[in-house]
Amino acid sequence: MIKNAHIHFNHLGTPVADQFDDVYFSNDDGLAESHYVFYQQNHIPQRLQNHDRNHFAIAETGFGTGLNFLNTWQHFAAHLDRQHAEQEVQNQPDHSGKKSVTRLHFISFEKFPIKRDDLAQALKAWPSLSKYSEQLITQYPINLAGCHRLEFAGGKLILDLYFGDVQDSIDAMSYPSEGIVDAWYLDGFAPSKNPDMWQQSLFNKMRAISRSNATLATFTAAGFVRRGLIEAGFSMSKAKGYGKKREMLIGELTEPNEQQSGPAYFAHQQSELSNVAVIGGGIASSSVLYSLAKRGLKATLFCQDEALAMGASHNVQGAVYPHLQAKNSPHSEMFAHSFLYAMRLYQQLLNDGFDYPHQWCGVLQHAVKQGLADKHQNLADKELWPAELMRNVSAEEGDEIAGVDTGYSGVFFAKGGWVNPPALVTALFNAANSLTATTNNKMDSHFNCHIEKLEKTADGWLLHSKEQTFGPFSDVINCAGEHSDQFSQTQALPVVGVRGQVSHVQASEQSKRLKTVLCHKGYFTPEYQGHHCMGATFEKNSKSREVKEQDNHINREQLLSFYTDSEFATTLGEITAAKAAVRCTFIDHLPMAGEWAEQSDYVSAFANLRLGKRYQYQTLTKPQQGLHVLTGFGARGLCSAPLCAEHLIACLNNEPRPFSERVSQAIHPARFIVRDLIRNKI
Ligand code: SAM
Repeated sequence: MIKNAHIHFNHLGTPVADQFDDVYFSNDDGLAESHYVFYQQNHIPQRLQNHDRNHFAIAETGFGTGLNFLNTWQHFAAHLDRQHAEQEVQNQPDHSGKKSVTRLHFISFEKFPIKRDDLAQALKAWPSLSKYSEQLITQYPINLAGCHRLEFAGGKLILDLYFGDVQDSIDAMSYPSEGIVDAWYLDGFAPSKNPDMWQQSLFNKMRAISRSNATLATFTAAGFVRRGLIEAGFSMSKAKGYGKKREMLIGELTEPNEQQSGPAYFAHQQSELSNVAVIGGGIASSSVLYSLAKRGLKATLFCQDEALAMGASHNVQGAVYPHLQAKNSPHSEMFAHSFLYAMRLYQQLLNDGFDYPHQWCGVLQHAVKQGLADKHQNLADKELWPAELMRNVSAEEGDEIAGVDTGYSGVFFAKGGWVNPPALVTALFNAANSLTATTNNKMDSHFNCHIEKLEKTADGWLLHSKEQTFGPFSDVINCAGEHSDQFSQTQALPVVGVRGQVSHVQASEQSKRLKTVLCHKGYFTPEYQGHHCMGATFEKNSKSREVKEQDNHINREQLLSFYTDSEFATTLGEITAAKAAVRCTFIDHLPMAGEWAEQSDYVSAFANLRLGKRYQYQTLTKPQQGLHVLTGFGARGLCSAPLCAEHLIACLNNEPRPFSERVSQAIHPARFIVRDLIRNKI
């Protein structure tokens, strides 16, 4: 569990950390010091105008009050304004090879997050930053370890806020051999006050995730810090310190860095992404279109239906909540962070005027069987999850939350709720469209367009429907759910289709009192337009999307079997409609995000895995380069698709990734083939 910082404010109003007995920023104009030491001494202003790509990444040790971040944001915003004005004047492409940065990534590591109220108090000292600090305070994450991806300025500024010790956090990160960080703000309390952080192991880790020519700046001039950074591979020099301080340190990574976080068979390689085809029409494709649009990348959607969300995303009310286990597993980590990210994104859509029916009414999972009660007790005992994410509730408290009598204890996800998935998928799609509407890379879409064949040519990927050929495209992202294995190149995808039917049942006076989503074996939503959603059935290996009367019966019987004496269930009216769909899952109940390589090439390149040799491989030839999958979300796409889409695009674009290496591997497309090779099964 993450512990908060204990702080007090000294006589000058500067926040002081009790654990370290040190100030968060200088008593003597902390903002000016932050600007000089970190922003200017890393030459950020010049580098934003002239970089080797249009994406720049800063990493900071110790987020504290976020002052460095907010100062950087303010100046980045001014940079974007200037860029905008210049573009309007010139409106000419620049052929000089220098790139003006359009997206800034700020990674910050924080072991003891300041409580939200303390943060608000501390940031009152900087009225000039209030426009930015208010947004930070609104999005400030809960005390959950790992990476919280927060987005500002329409996705042009990303804050990856890692809660946890900086060294543990970097150890867990997923990153490519080229590295991800362009500039370091080496903050953290004075080395004398915080010796645990200023270690050689940290300096070495900094190098591991740095790009070539990464710079660093730190307020300290301590000799052991300078020597340690030199040993890690940075060339170091002294600069004049801020104000009365005599010296500070600056540095640059001179030797190229070639480490990556995982083994070759779980790597993600950069892809071109200059012209991307997205196949599918559900939450996965809308999410990935949005991730591409934020980056200004050109995309075209191919949807076989006449409108979005006619497959597994088509229900009237879908519950949004994470699937958490009583262990700190990659599965739980993926769901917890995906859920928090999705909820921030869905709120942002509403703030931006992209509306959809929803209710953030929480989700209450009832312990309807002894096995579930034991599981919930186990969850409570392990104390893994912050109460803002999930908390155990007694039967009395649960019924109070739900507004109906059930007699069941359970776990409550206060931040969850329900959404209308088709409207949400459309809102996300419209938001992506509007991000690209005024650019040269306007998004394109083709509905009623069934792609039958993918063909890789020297110019890129061609997509063939019965009537037409589209392309060439640099990349194809296959988000076709249960149909993801329909192409000759993807036949080996081990898709498991699970049919599910949701019934729409008329509300009664008693059932209208329900205030939250209930989960038992299935789910039951609060009333919307005179009806509740009740479901879902679960039928493996059936591809039928036809509504079955018998399944409506099963849904009602299941509800009544758990809530035999509860009026909200016994007084329900007729089932007036139902929807059935086939959800795409994999046997390990995790989705898939990454490049889909030619399977036979994978087997020969990594044949040594059969011998237990993990590190001697041939290079993987890549005839299918540019073909990716984003699918397998089952009934949980509303929770997990947006962050999985972000992870996929971040991997393909060589950007900082939101998922840790273990999550990245858990959802990697090669996981089944690697497992089979290790077990000598293929
Ligand atoms: N950059 C901050 C700002 O702009 O407000 C000030 C940072 S403050 C001087 C140092 C921060 O480093 C504190 O918030 C502290 O909790 C954090 N910290 C100390 N040791 C750490 C560690 N080992 N890992 C991550 N964060 C750490």
